[in-house]
Amino acid sequence: TGAQIGVTGLAVMGRNLARNLARHGFTVALHNRSPERTRRLVAEHGDEGTFVPSESLADFVNSLERPRAVIVMVKAGGPTDAVIDELVPLLDAGDIVVDCGNAHFDDTRRREVALREQGLHFVGTGVSGGEEGALLGPSIMPGGSTESYAKLGPMFESIAAQVDGVPCCVHVGPDGAGHFVKMVHNGIEYADMQLIAEAYDLLRSGLSASPAEIAEIFRTWNSGELESFLIEITADVLAHTDATGQPFVDVVLDRAEQKGTGRWTVQSALDLGIPITGIAEATFARSLSGHADQRTAAARAFPDTPGWQVADRDVFVEDVRKALLASKIVAYAQGFDHVQAGSQEYGWQIDRGAVASIWRGGCIIRARFLDRIREAYDDQPDLPTLLVAPYFAKAIGDGVPSWRRVVADAARAGVPTPAFSSSLAYFDALRRDRLPAALIQGLRDNFGAHTYQRVDRPGSFHTLWAGDRSELAG
Ligand code: NDP
Repeated sequence: TGAQIGVTGLAVMGRNLARNLARHGFTVALHNRSPERTRRLVAEHGDEGTFVPSESLADFVNSLERPRAVIVMVKAGGPTDAVIDELVPLLDAGDIVVDCGNAHFDDTRRREVALREQGLHFVGTGVSGGEEGALLGPSIMPGGSTESYAKLGPMFESIAAQVDGVPCCVHVGPDGAGHFVKMVHNGIEYADMQLIAEAYDLLRSGLSASPAEIAEIFRTWNSGELESFLIEITADVLAHTDATGQPFVDVVLDRAEQKGTGRWTVQSALDLGIPITGIAEATFARSLSGHADQRTAAARAFPDTPGWQVADRDVFVEDVRKALLASKIVAYAQGFDHVQAGSQEYGWQIDRGAVASIWRGGCIIRARFLDRIREAYDDQPDLPTLLVAPYFAKAIGDGVPSWRRVVADAARAGVPTPAFSSSLAYFDALRRDRLPAALIQGLRDNFGAHTYQRVDRPGSFHTLWAGDRSELAG
């Protein structure tokens, strides 16, 4: 008998995933390109469970029970392909290769096809929760075949975060479904963080409050509907005083970075035609923050900022809270629409309620709120938009006046709220009886004979704009 599962790639993520598996009683084969990492893991944590270390990939493969399950946890992109290429000739039909790295779902789809042709299972798996999550319980989003999940499921479900006794791991769907859902998770994370940042900016500008005071507001919010990991750490970061004696948030350069998963999400949504405006605004807001020269030039050209002091502190704080919640609902509604569109495009049959459920713990966007999303999709799997599910419809209905006040006041005061205001615009556009899209159709027909449909009868039509303006039916 051999090891039940193997991990190759023992940097922070692989090392912690391997330890998590061993701590849960699984026998774990270990391998890393440079053997020092393997040796160090065994030396430092060998007593946490049963590890079977190997220095060569062939020995590593031979140390596994069949069908073999190998987790690849190396740098995404080229290195992942290189490791897969090395592994494949050593494996036998029915063996399972699991990529737990941050792969693009298109790469996962490509690799899945290539390995399937060799009789192997390839399981692209999203893992969220960072270093600590990998060790203590991540949210795990496996794609791949049902057969591979029969072997991996019990192990993954046991090492995943648990919420109310339910593991934060589910078989998301075939081939790239897991990495797709992980991508959308990261996009939602971008939107969540941007909304939090805007709320902070609003509170700071409107109240002239200190970061420490705003930390208290977030702490209070974290005991209500907004309760989430990100709100909790926002309070922590805002309350932190730097060694210089200044608020930490004031000594950090205000240019947000990104590793690119927000960009992937937006690109995919453009391809699928899904308006994930909150995620897109959040991604662009990070880009904008990095354009230092333009920011300096614009600040110099337009130095005047209207003053802003809100009339009633408590009313304003509650307005911002409600606007944040409503905008957040929009961002999640859009993210889940994106999941649904991917599912339909690629034939994945993703259960959105189950996705909401596995995001309740372990991952960065973990939040109380996700329970409500799970209920919404469990109650109505074909829900047209999360905005109309009873809980969310009520939260938005209650929040609309606050949302409008906050966005309007911020615009008057010159405080940018790209995610708050675009979420409100999305909401208003969705619910509006007539959109100016009719005019756009008219323009398209005028300059390009692109045709239009009519409200009063079926078919497509073209007006002879340059002629006698009679209408032709197509
Ligand atoms: P890194 O992304 O820093 O990758 C380092 C590991 O990759 C080392 O084990 C290294 O081996 C190995 N490696 C690199 N190139 C090759 C190659 N050509 N052949 C064989 N092995 C190679 O490690 P992390 O642990 O940070 O992340 C692993 C994966 O998990 C990545 O895909 C990452 O995107 C993803 N991820 C990371 C998260 C995080 O919070 N860090 C969260 C979720 C996912 P060697 O020691 O020999 O150099």
